[in-house]
Amino acid sequence: MRNFAPKVKPNLVMSIAQNLEAVRRQLPQGVRLVAVSKTHPVEVLMEAYNAGQRIFGENKVQEMRLKQQVMPADVQWHMIGHLQTNKVKQLVPFVSMIHSVDSQRLLETINSEACKHNRLIDCLLQVHIAQEDTKFGFADDELRDLLRTGLHTQMANVRVVGLMGMASVSDCEEQISAEFAHLRQLFDELKAQHFAADAHFCELSMGMSHDYPLAIAQGSTMVRVGSRIFGQRNYATVNQ
Ligand SMILES: *Cc1c(COP(=O)(O)O)cnc(C)c1O
Repeated sequence: MRNFAPKVKPNLVMSIAQNLEAVRRQLPQGVRLVAVSKTHPVEVLMEAYNAGQRIFGENKVQEMRLKQQVMPADVQWHMIGHLQTNKVKQLVPFVSMIHSVDSQRLLETINSEACKHNRLIDCLLQVHIAQEDTKFGFADDELRDLLRTGLHTQMANVRVVGLMGMASVSDCEEQISAEFAHLRQLFDELKAQHFAADAHFCELSMGMSHDYPLAIAQGSTMVRVGSRIFGQRNYATVNQ
C-alpha cells in the first residue's frame, strides 16, 4: 500500500506562526513574549508580525536599526544585548525597552540621549545570576548600592521598570530554577525598598527557548524566545 504521509518530520514543517502559537499557549495571562529575531532577515520577522507578534528583541544596534527602518511602525523594539554607551544615541529615537542596562554609566547615557529626543525610555537592570562569568550584569550588591544612591529617581528620561537575567547554560533544571528564584527574590526586595510606590517597577525579564517554562514558574513577566520560534540561528551568514 502506498503511504501518503509527508516524508519530513512534522516539527520541520511547523511554520513560524505555528511555533508562535505553541509558545503563546504556554504563557499565562500577563506574561509577554519578546520574539528574539537576531540574525534573521526581515521577511522572517514579517511572518511573525503577520501572525500578530509586535514585540521583537534584537541584540545589535545596527541590525535593529536596519530592521526598524523597514518593518511596520507599530513594532515595539526591545534591546536585549550588551549595549555600548557610544551606540545609545542610535537606538534612542525608536527603542521601546532596553533589557540590558548593566552599569550606572549606561543608564546615565540613555537618560541624557533620551532627553535630547524628549523620550521616556523603559529600562531593565540586568543582573548577573548565572554561574558563568561570561554574562554581563550587575552583582546583587552593586545593584543595591546603585539604587540606594537614588540616582534613578533623578533621571527624568529613563524609567526603571524591572530586572532582567539569564540563567546558566545547563541541563540541570534545579540550578536554572534556583537562579530564576534568586532573581525573583532580589526583585521583591528592591521593589519593597525602592519602588514600593512605583507601579511601573513590575517587570521580570527571564526565560529563553530552553528554559522559559522554568522562568514562568518563578514569576517571569517577559520571556525572550528566539530559536523556539525562528529555528536555529546561522551566525556565519549574518556577519558577511
Ligand atoms: C539570543 C537571546 C535570547 C534568545 O535565545 P534563544 O535560546 O534563541 O531563545 C534571549 N535573551 C538574550 C539576551 C539573547 O541574547
